[in-house]
Amino acid sequence: HHHIDHATPAKVQAAIAAGDIHAHLPDYQTLAAYCADGGYAVLERLRADGDWQAVQELVLASGLRGLGGAGFPSGRKWGFVRGNPGPRYLAVNGDEGEPGTFKDRYYLERTPHVFLEGMLIAAWAIEAETCFIYMRDEYPAVLALLRREIAALEAAGIVSPGYIDLRRGAGAYICGEESAMIESIEGKRGIPRHRPPFVAEVGLFGRPTLVHNVETLLWVARICREGPEILNGVEKNGRKGLRSYSVSGRVAQPGIYVLPAGSTIMDIIAAAGGMAAGHLFKAYQPGGPSSGLLPASLDDVPLDFDTLQPHDTFIGSAAVVVLSQQDRARDAALNMLRFFEDESCGQCTPCRVGCQKAVQLMQAPEWDRALLGDLCTAMADASICGLGQSAPNPIRLVMRHFSDEI
Ligand code: SF4
Repeated sequence: HHHIDHATPAKVQAAIAAGDIHAHLPDYQTLAAYCADGGYAVLERLRADGDWQAVQELVLASGLRGLGGAGFPSGRKWGFVRGNPGPRYLAVNGDEGEPGTFKDRYYLERTPHVFLEGMLIAAWAIEAETCFIYMRDEYPAVLALLRREIAALEAAGIVSPGYIDLRRGAGAYICGEESAMIESIEGKRGIPRHRPPFVAEVGLFGRPTLVHNVETLLWVARICREGPEILNGVEKNGRKGLRSYSVSGRVAQPGIYVLPAGSTIMDIIAAAGGMAAGHLFKAYQPGGPSSGLLPASLDDVPLDFDTLQPHDTFIGSAAVVVLSQQDRARDAALNMLRFFEDESCGQCTPCRVGCQKAVQLMQAPEWDRALLGDLCTAMADASICGLGQSAPNPIRLVMRHFSDEI
């Protein structure tokens, strides 16, 4: 939390300008420490005589997919963006507003330069004119250390001044949606755009834009340095790669757990030290509130991209929340819909009015299943963006798996 004295805005403004709004900077790896460990050698080599398509091949071979939640193959994105005439931009999505997700923060507060080198490699690959980093303002320590380290990169001559443009988000969940983020960076109200055209063709300021999540770029740097095997060499339950699960709820040790992509909820609970004392596993949110809730009986499903489709949900940003016998699924689902009601940008009626109606209907002691079902269909079919399209998931999954509660 920021401890801001609202009575003295001038003082606050000065503190923000000085990058000094958080008293406790974490003990992270600085530029000097990263370089001493061989950091930026890959970038230097690539800039000197690298072949971008060879790097793209490495990224494709690794199986890296967009870790903001969409899961689009990262290497293919590079091809689309590079295929459009320049100038091109790179925009980093660091908004991380999905409740229960804190993996980007975890990495940025420890090894910011792994991410920054990955970003500069991707920028090199698509010949980006500028890199915009859209960073969640609720992460003051991250903002402060990024400001400091970007200045260090400029001072070291690794990037020219202004090449990395750090922008602060203002707390709107919808600005994590890539086209809304782009609107926001452009200085407009953050509302999603209709697609097509896709941002790879018409993105920031009308230019081809590569949008990547923070964690995705961190893996780009690691793949270039350590080889694609760090991801494609890990196999479990028929799935390849690694996932950074943000684990919270009724577990003994909430935190970030980097596990094989084929991990099940039981593997994840075990990694998090088991259930908290006095709690019995009842249900879980597999990947953010948009993914809804699954019952404990579905405990053998690998929590990866694609594998949750048969259960009408998805892994998203891998934000796992574990519920126990002390929780009601219907309360958790209501909480999720209240969140969507607050965060709907209001641009389209099915989502703006639908979330509001859903919250009203879900408060009835007995749910009107037929009416809620119709509402879910209208929202899923007619909303412009993923928020409204997936907001019905918690409702549908509670009706399917927790009918005794409603
Ligand atoms: Fe905005 Fe919701 Fe429509 Fe998305 S679905 S554009 S958040 S109103």
